[in-house]
Amino acid sequence: MAAITRLVKRTTSFYPLARGFSSSSYSHASPRENRNIQWVFLGCPGVGKGTYASRLCNLLGVPHIATGDLVRHELSSNGPLSSQLSEIVNQGQLVSDEIIMSLLSKRLAEGQAKGESGFILDGFPRTIKQAEILEGVTDIDLVVNLKIREEALLAKCLGRRTCSQCGGNFNVASINIKGENGCPGISMDPLLPPEHCMSKLITRSDDTEPVVKERLRIYNELSQPVEGFYRSRGKLMEFELPGGIPESWPKLLHALNLDDEEKQSAAA
Ligand SMILES: [Zn+2]
Repeated sequence: MAAITRLVKRTTSFYPLARGFSSSSYSHASPRENRNIQWVFLGCPGVGKGTYASRLCNLLGVPHIATGDLVRHELSSNGPLSSQLSEIVNQGQLVSDEIIMSLLSKRLAEGQAKGESGFILDGFPRTIKQAEILEGVTDIDLVVNLKIREEALLAKCLGRRTCSQCGGNFNVASINIKGENGCPGISMDPLLPPEHCMSKLITRSDDTEPVVKERLRIYNELSQPVEGFYRSRGKLMEFELPGGIPESWPKLLHALNLDDEEKQSAAA
């Protein structure tokens, strides 16, 4: 009973979401009345998409379904696709749309059988073809496209450090870029390691400017058609990150009209 009350409360609280958007074309943003949200998170590597998706999932009580996790889970479970998958991964090839889709369908069906409602998809769809297949399988209410200014992303990636002894992840970049030409400013504090890790920090060999830029170029090439696909359906919400988690999280909640959800969960 408590679950039903929660769901109804949540559903009603989502209706202002559709109104909150400036364009009436976002009318699909709110979920159907008998289920929780079904959202997709898009964003380039390094933007922190997984972190924001996972925080929102905790807040809203929906599963965070990340494609990378599905692949790893299948590989470790000796499932029907695992030998095919390990061959693909070992050869460094991309996992095909069909395999990703069947892993996702299986995950959604398992969730439904366990009584799960709603989800946030992270890392999927990656191509128009995947988006089209997804459309045939389930309804997507909203696609959140997380963006960050390239110079900030670059600084963030180049500032990443790992402690070679304890494995801790840190970031030495201190970002403070002023807003210009309608572009908001962005500031991000460094995440400095404790004193004893300081001398043991290492940089990942692929965190170099050319590699990060190339990763970004490939991502944009793949992602722009997918963004266009959802934009034309009135489902794409662009969100420009104003900084790290402390600056961005409240603004993201506000953009999604979830300020009240956060307060309720903090009070509970
Ligand atoms: Zn350490």
